[in-house]
Amino acid sequence: MTDLAAARKALDVDRVRRDFPILSETVNGKPLVYLDNGASAHKPVAVLDAMDAYFRHSHSNVHRGAHTLGDRATAAFEGARETVRQFLNAASTKEVIWTRGTTEAINTVANSLGQRLRAGDEILVSTMEHHANIVPWQMVAQRIGAKVVPIPVTPAGELDMPELDTLLDSGRARVLAVAHVSNVLGTVNPVRELVAKAKSKGLYTVIDGAQAVPHYRPDVQALDCDFYAFSGHKLFGPTGIGVLYGREALLQDMEPFMGGGEMIERVTFEKTTWNVLPYKFEAGTPPIAEAVGLGAAIDYVEGLGRNALETAEQALLQRANELVETVPGMTVIGTATDKVPVMSFKIDGLHPSDIGTLLDQQGIAIRTGHHCAMPLMAYYGVPGTARASFAFYNTLDEVEQLFAALQKIQRLFAE
Ligand code: PLP
Repeated sequence: MTDLAAARKALDVDRVRRDFPILSETVNGKPLVYLDNGASAHKPVAVLDAMDAYFRHSHSNVHRGAHTLGDRATAAFEGARETVRQFLNAASTKEVIWTRGTTEAINTVANSLGQRLRAGDEILVSTMEHHANIVPWQMVAQRIGAKVVPIPVTPAGELDMPELDTLLDSGRARVLAVAHVSNVLGTVNPVRELVAKAKSKGLYTVIDGAQAVPHYRPDVQALDCDFYAFSGHKLFGPTGIGVLYGREALLQDMEPFMGGGEMIERVTFEKTTWNVLPYKFEAGTPPIAEAVGLGAAIDYVEGLGRNALETAEQALLQRANELVETVPGMTVIGTATDKVPVMSFKIDGLHPSDIGTLLDQQGIAIRTGHHCAMPLMAYYGVPGTARASFAFYNTLDEVEQLFAALQKIQRLFAE
């Protein structure tokens, strides 16, 4: 048995695939090969069933306490919050705020933290950030006269740590907001070290965990970050739900971003006071079924065992790396030492969107374009890339199918 095959044995992929009904779909007459997991991952039956059961037996609005269904809904909703707390190893459920996703989580923290920033302050993000971790900070910075400053990356797609030190030494930086994992490059950033450096200079630390949680279980206490954001739909859960973790002492002191029902303690026309944490940051009726679905997704993924998943995923990346040289003119963008199974690439003479369209005809789904990371595209001098992003339910055979298709496409265009 090859090393790769042995690594894949850590996980019974055939059994796992049966948990994801959509993986049996046929696309353009071919069995679906889904390699766009970084954009959104698929949902196991456990998630579909949990949401179905919630709607059939427990749905009502939460925290109203007026009747039995309301109590059931509240118990399911708050139970899911406790699941997330354990997943993140947060100290308390007061630190777990439901949002619609990473984007809303970062907007919430940017706007609330923005109230503490002054003109001339710097917000450090990195060149590899998703727009979701750039634009909210730019909007806040513009209002108060602060500045968003990018931390450069190296050609391999790693953060330029000496440059970060220089930016920290300026004394102007007040916030560090960086991705745990890059959606384009797959780079795993050294978050613990970054947070330690930033904290030693008194910065607030915000981690965008959108691309990390499908691959790792973050421990917010070990990372020691102030905020950590992620989306349910990339973690095999539903869309419309995400999480903002925040350190309790900071959240207590921060003003809410959105106002409305649920987030108040008392409303009068003279003065309104805020609800306790975490509800202070949860205005309006929350995505209840989606929270239940996310709780089920976390239970499912953690039940498979993270070590087995990581071993299986790394085998996919290793096989993909081995096959790059079989496609003439193919270059991988993002060659960091520590990577999740994400491969951005270009092929000489081929536009990324043509690669995407031709692969789709073979039933192979990848993502092409700027990946909501235009500054990173500008750094690499490309309008966009093609990106295959793998999940634990992908097979070595699917990796080989991708490369066989790429070889065919390359030959077609070379003629
Ligand atoms: N941050 C990163 C690194 C991402 O990859 C994404 C989505 O692709 C986001 C943030 C935004 O996530 P969402 O659209 O779920 O809010």
